[in-house]
Amino acid sequence: MKVSRLLSVLLALLMLTGCTKDTANTPNQTDGEVHSVTLFAMDTVMELTVYDGEGEAALEQAAELISRLEGLLSTTDVNSEIYAANHSGGNPVALSDDTGQLLKLALSMCRDTAGALDISIYPVVRTWGFTTGQYQVPDGETIASLLELVDYTRVSLEERALTVPDGMEIDLGAVAKGYTGDRILDLFRQSGVTSAKVNLGGNLQMLGAKTDGALWRVAVQDPTGDGYAGIVEVENKAVITSGGYERYFEEEGVRYWHIIDPATGRPAQSGLISVTIVTESGVVGDALSTALFVMGKERAAEYWRGREDFDFILIGEDGSVTISEGIEDSFSLYGGWTSHDLEVIRR
Ligand code: ADP
Ligand code: MG
Repeated sequence: MKVSRLLSVLLALLMLTGCTKDTANTPNQTDGEVHSVTLFAMDTVMELTVYDGEGEAALEQAAELISRLEGLLSTTDVNSEIYAANHSGGNPVALSDDTGQLLKLALSMCRDTAGALDISIYPVVRTWGFTTGQYQVPDGETIASLLELVDYTRVSLEERALTVPDGMEIDLGAVAKGYTGDRILDLFRQSGVTSAKVNLGGNLQMLGAKTDGALWRVAVQDPTGDGYAGIVEVENKAVITSGGYERYFEEEGVRYWHIIDPATGRPAQSGLISVTIVTESGVVGDALSTALFVMGKERAAEYWRGREDFDFILIGEDGSVTISEGIEDSFSLYGGWTSHDLEVIRR
């Protein structure tokens, strides 16, 4: 019911935004046509723009894909596979290919980040109120008992069977949008699209370059205000940000945000306020934007030295900006941020 209603909303939006043509000479011409759609799913505003190929059909399929993935991955939809696993009483649950594939990737990122990413953090996230908006600061005892339920190594995935121990609950919120972006771009490629931009609530994923061959200029949001802190120029890359300014509440002058350090059960206080990952894979970028936010600058730099497949832009609470050397030539500070300190981390 929920899924089909969402789908009709998506399709209505698709028709509303329709397509705009750069060159309107021949009605059926696909070259030079720009198609875009704005929709709301996975708790965020999504905007997909396709610059060539069979754009309109590709966008319709993408809207269906988003709706289907949301239906599989939601923690609150009683028909989702994640809900089923979280309420199985510790029994194995059969997964679809998509959920199975994402879970496998997510668990491997939990291991690789030594638990800075932990998909079993959900009971803690919920108790802080980030799932409902009924925010509260839990006391130390409550947090300690919740943390006994947090341990991704006890979540088992055998082939396509997922077992979440009784009492534990998982949440793919830190990686689902990145995975969804990857699948959308796969679908676009299959539709002959070579140039597209996918914005899933601040997760930017770019297919190819612009149609004139120029790089995409992707803005990194100013974590302290409305504008931009920097611009990174990319092609064929995901540019994914986790920020302490995205979802938070304040109590007695303290800001509490939605990225939780699994070691403490509290909002990660690593000295960072924003982490942007530039990489080829959306799911890796999404996992790492969350994980490096938890790690903080020193651990993040160390972790980066151990991998070859991503770059980062870290913004500290003190306003300092730190980037990894792979994007030294493609990143620049923007506007009022040009006067901030910029440090480049090298291998
Ligand atoms: P957003 O979804 O706002 O772009 P993230 O990708 O960083 O931000 O994901 C944050 C979400 O992931 C939180 O809302 C929460 O559900 C979940 N989460 C928070 N901390 C962690 C963590 N350390 N590991 C895994 N998931 C987390
Ligand atoms: Mg993330």
